[in-house]
Amino acid sequence: MAKPETEKIECVHCNRCLRSTDHTVVAERKIRGSELYGDDFEISWEDTYTMLECCGCHDVTLRRRSWFSEVDGFNIEFYPPQVSRRMPEWADKIPRNASALLKEIYAALHSNSMRLAVMGARSLVDLFMNEKVGDLGGFAQKLEALLKEGYLSRFQKEFLLVALDTGHAVTHRGFAPKKDTVEQMMDVVENLLQHYALQEAVEDLRKVTPPRKK
Ligand SMILES: [Zn+2]
Repeated sequence: MAKPETEKIECVHCNRCLRSTDHTVVAERKIRGSELYGDDFEISWEDTYTMLECCGCHDVTLRRRSWFSEVDGFNIEFYPPQVSRRMPEWADKIPRNASALLKEIYAALHSNSMRLAVMGARSLVDLFMNEKVGDLGGFAQKLEALLKEGYLSRFQKEFLLVALDTGHAVTHRGFAPKKDTVEQMMDVVENLLQHYALQEAVEDLRKVTPPRKK
């Protein structure tokens, strides 16, 4: 069906498509205000609320664009916040405590709480290591054991060693990690956790695969 000519389209990030897509402006409301200071000085502000619907997946988001006469430019916020990452599909197929922690990490990522996300990711790796190779002491020994058991490649091990130190710096030295670093850390952590899901998939596949004829 052709779109009516009056329909307004804007290109913004879609949380489901995970990229910028065309969105239909469903509704828009403006709230303005001003205040007088003395005889000849006035400050004013304007909030524009725009409800936007993705033309591809129909996900709906609300944007608030705020303008204040004493500040240059606009402040833009989205509800729910814009996300660049989605929870893996296998998140419910891993042990319950790991799955619950992963969900909390995503809640932190989606509210831009990078430090909380890194602390959570560090705990998640520790949880996995303790279950797979036992509590052998420090992270370095446990990672070495994971490498030997084939859960990690050498590159992943090196990266995790540095990333876990980032987690330590966040917890104990107030370090604020960059979003890219946290994303990379999540890639490796999820790669590790996927072993749980793959284990189940291997067993299922074995059950349904007909045996070879002798
Ligand atoms: Zn979309």
